[in-house]
Amino acid sequence: MKTAKSEIRSIIARLKKRYPDELRTRLGFRNAWELLVATELSAQSQDAQVNKVTPLLFRKYPKVSSYTRLKPQQLYRYVKTLGLYRNKSKNIIAAANRITSEFNGRVPDSMDKLITIPGVGRKTANVILVNAFEKNEGIAVDTHCITVSNRLFLFNTKNAEKIERSLMEFTPRKEWGNLTHLLIALGRDVCTARRKYCERCVLNDICPSSTVRK
Ligand code: SF4
Repeated sequence: MKTAKSEIRSIIARLKKRYPDELRTRLGFRNAWELLVATELSAQSQDAQVNKVTPLLFRKYPKVSSYTRLKPQQLYRYVKTLGLYRNKSKNIIAAANRITSEFNGRVPDSMDKLITIPGVGRKTANVILVNAFEKNEGIAVDTHCITVSNRLFLFNTKNAEKIERSLMEFTPRKEWGNLTHLLIALGRDVCTARRKYCERCVLNDICPSSTVRK
């Protein structure tokens, strides 16, 4: 059997065919600022839960400048159904202030600048870069990507940055954003943290952790 890593092109092709509608984030947004807010809100919350609260939030506070003078408590009523909402509210306001003072009120489109914004780490920055600016500067690694990568590529680590670096080494750059979304789709569908449904997985003949014997 070839290693899963050497099969990366075939893996991406098969996953694109299996999950053709999963090549972008499921978070709802109309611009880079809304995506930044939605992504910060999605930490330890499901995208569907975030999508329930953001339409009202974005209607009430439509621009970066709408947030700069707010107190966190003013955001609570919109986001309090989400975990960690107090911290997330504080970060969103701090992010708006930094974007206003350092970046002329516009969300920057580079990793170096994005990761200086409160609440934005490499994962959030990668989500923004690929979905709002169509730039592949890295690979966003969330919990689904960690689970699937460890099984499919035998990484044996939960460290997201190590996984990101390894994935970048053997994946063609133009596919970095796609790979994130496809691994998430696989993780949600058949390769879940709690259980793997290898019999339904389109990679079960090349995955070294498959329980299906060919
Ligand atoms: S074959 Fe099984 S372990 Fe491998 S990616 Fe598919 S579901 Fe996960």
